[in-house]
Amino acid sequence: MTLINPLQFTAHEFADRMYAVCGRGRAQALALYQCFIREGQVRDTLPQFRNAPHLYEQMRQTIKVDIDPVTLIQSTERATKFLMKTHDGYLVESVIMSMQSRKSLCVSSQIGCRMACAFCHTGQMGFKRHLGPEEIVQQMFAARHVLKSSIQNVVFMGMGEPFDNFESVMQAVRVLADPLSFGIGLRRITISTSGDIQGIKTMTRDERPLPNLAVSLGAPTDAIRSKIMPRRRAEPLHDLYTAMYDYCRTKKRQILVSYVLLSDVNDSLECAEQLAIYLKGLDVRVNVIPYNASPESAFACPSQEAITAFVSRLRHHALPVFVRHERGSSIQAACGQLGG
Ligand code: SAH
Ligand code: SF4
Repeated sequence: MTLINPLQFTAHEFADRMYAVCGRGRAQALALYQCFIREGQVRDTLPQFRNAPHLYEQMRQTIKVDIDPVTLIQSTERATKFLMKTHDGYLVESVIMSMQSRKSLCVSSQIGCRMACAFCHTGQMGFKRHLGPEEIVQQMFAARHVLKSSIQNVVFMGMGEPFDNFESVMQAVRVLADPLSFGIGLRRITISTSGDIQGIKTMTRDERPLPNLAVSLGAPTDAIRSKIMPRRRAEPLHDLYTAMYDYCRTKKRQILVSYVLLSDVNDSLECAEQLAIYLKGLDVRVNVIPYNASPESAFACPSQEAITAFVSRLRHHALPVFVRHERGSSIQAACGQLGG
């Protein structure tokens, strides 16, 4: 028997698949989908099925959702981390971050990560597997219906390199953005890549509306970058620049450039100067992320003076810069700390 997981599909894709199974009831399938996404469950009755109880039963039996229970929830004032177990026993980590009245959900796209960035706990755990679109969307479903959080923004900044799992991530984005589903506007969804040039080029060629793009640079020179982001060694910063330039120009969109600040590695004023020069000609905002420590880490967070000096030097070049103050580091929920 064909089973359909609504979290894998947009409303219309779901209705098409239900129609293929049941031979009728496209409009009813849409109502069923919306009820499930909005209420978190399939009700016993729906007005749209008043005259079609058999169809309702058939559709309910065709829906397959293994809503795994949330296994762990840890909260601080500004961050809530939650873990869900996959059918094959892995733990998916997600974080809800609160900023004033807004809430952002940080989702994972993989279990672990292939990129092995030296400063990142997820990178150090290695790669286990990709998440399917339904497993990505399920993080939103749990945030809404288990943690009862109303989410305004979604960022792909949890475990994994999103462009390494391109199709599943893009399908999850379409589901999250679907007005008949969670309805998170594309401008409120951000995909963060560690600089996958092919992925940026694919986004540039895509003619459909796109989510925001963030690029984690990590260093202003290839020499430093290849030390701390070893898998990016084959992709020189020069080529990354060209890909970002084409993206900004073709899409007329700004890129959020993230820069993890590591004491005595990439936090000198010379690095700030090189970074500012590198970014010339691009439409960017810079997000400086002071290093969040993980157990047994070889790196350290720069002093407040060093952070301020680095940021001032960038601002001196008229770059829009903000410093991302850690949220949830005490529960290992900040950037780069997932995968415990
Ligand atoms: N894999 C994607 C998205 C997840 S990481 C990427 O790398 O872009 C999200 C951000 O956290 C990245 O900008 C990364 O550079 C940063 N980061 C990773 N480990 C960190 C750490 N220990 N402290 C601070 N930022 C970190
Ligand atoms: Fe992967 Fe991003 Fe961590 Fe690098 S920083 S290992 S790309 S999750």
